[in-house]
Amino acid sequence: VEFPAPGNEKIRLQSQMIPYGRDSRLLIIRDITQTHDMERLRGEFIAAASHELRTPLTVITGYLETLQHADKAQARKITAAMLEQARRMESIIADTLALARLESLQTHKDHGRAVVAIDALVRAVVAEAKALSGGRHSFTARIQPQTDLLGIESELYSAFANLVCNAVRHTPAGSAITVIWQTKERKARFIVADNGPGIATEHIARLTERFYRVDPGRSREQGGTGLGLAIVEQVVRHHDGRLLIESTPGAGSRFICEFPAHLTKTAL
Ligand code: ADP
Repeated sequence: VEFPAPGNEKIRLQSQMIPYGRDSRLLIIRDITQTHDMERLRGEFIAAASHELRTPLTVITGYLETLQHADKAQARKITAAMLEQARRMESIIADTLALARLESLQTHKDHGRAVVAIDALVRAVVAEAKALSGGRHSFTARIQPQTDLLGIESELYSAFANLVCNAVRHTPAGSAITVIWQTKERKARFIVADNGPGIATEHIARLTERFYRVDPGRSREQGGTGLGLAIVEQVVRHHDGRLLIESTPGAGSRFICEFPAHLTKTAL
């Protein structure tokens, strides 16, 4: 039997009665809070992911119905719109799988770590963000080239690119984006700062939740999946670090990935 602990609803207990001997019973009570919470979270995630996928699927179904009676010019427009929705579904699935992979990796942390040349990596990330911006934002990169990081290059690329691309997608044209790689007290920090609209305090703690967005409509319009910051947090944790988010509404935001001293390497 499973039941909440008397006096504390948050604790979940499981009890089992086993008869043995002639008149004896063995009562086992286990605290299953952790497994129970994980199952609940998994269930919530599946529900949220299904909901996210259902929206573009509904749109595609609607278009397919219209397509049956469309002329050639209309058909072209409809196909392009359907393609956009299909791509959205692809991104949601790709990000969901990336997250699941990262979570399953948490147990063997140093698996596959190698020295990553951060200088080159950050330059590649900035080039990608510049392409996304198409000249609408100004970029400054301040990289301390003598510090590298022991880590997994593909994960770090995806985390850093997510942050810089977020700065492009969530700030208006004309905004300035600064990317910094620095070491302080032997801890390494990757910082993305922008002077965009910022984020109200009540949202900050929830930004790394899956599918959490400040403005869901705008995020979807920008091609966001709402999983970006959840991925960033997992990557940083996988590198024994932490993600800090600071923002002042109206003045801009700062996203900081902080890595511990034992993973920093002085570049040759
Ligand atoms: P999305 O796919 O929507 O970008 P993320 O998990 O990457 O999902 O980000 C979650 C939310 O955090 C975004 O929807 C946006 O509201 C907010 N956000 C992220 N980066 C910034 C930024 N640089 N400035 C303002 N808001 C941001």
